[in-house]
Amino acid sequence: MYVIVIDETKCNNCGECVKICPNDIYKIVNDKVTVGDTTECSNCQSCISMCEPQAITISEI
Ligand code: SF4
Ligand code: SF4
Repeated sequence: MYVIVIDETKCNNCGECVKICPNDIYKIVNDKVTVGDTTECSNCQSCISMCEPQAITISEI
């Protein structure tokens, strides 16, 4: 299982991670991008490559 953290000091809420994730891990709540249920994350790294400010960290637990 993976833990996904968005660094709020870097995230500009562009929404690219929401669009690219094949497993709908990211959600928009009150105009803010947040991490939802990470159970289905396959660690494909697509969100990381789309995130220009490098705000996303994924670690395995
Ligand atoms: S792609 Fe990066 S900067 Fe854009 S909303 Fe996602 S975490 Fe934030
Ligand atoms: S690594 Fe892939 S499956 Fe996991 S959150 Fe990012 S885009 Fe989605």
